Amino acid sequence: MNKNLLLWNEAGQIACSEHAPFRGSDTWRAERWRPIRVCERVDFEAEMERAPACETCEAIKRRATEASS
Ligand SMILES: [Zn+2]
Repeated sequence: MNKNLLLWNEAGQIACSEHAPFRGSDTWRAERWRPIRVCERVDFEAEMERAPACETCEAIKRRATEASS
């Protein structure tokens, strides 16, 4: 599975394939997770002035940065 693949749900939560709910699970279906399309990625970047990123991975990175400082 492509680890760089990003998905998002109806609520705008972003996750990588590793941190998104299991494909086809109840959560996956209930929250309507699906891959971010290239054009959506471009729109996101234009609007948010940053690339979309997995929220869980970002939180892990932040914790690691805080722990080392
Ligand atoms: Zn992730």
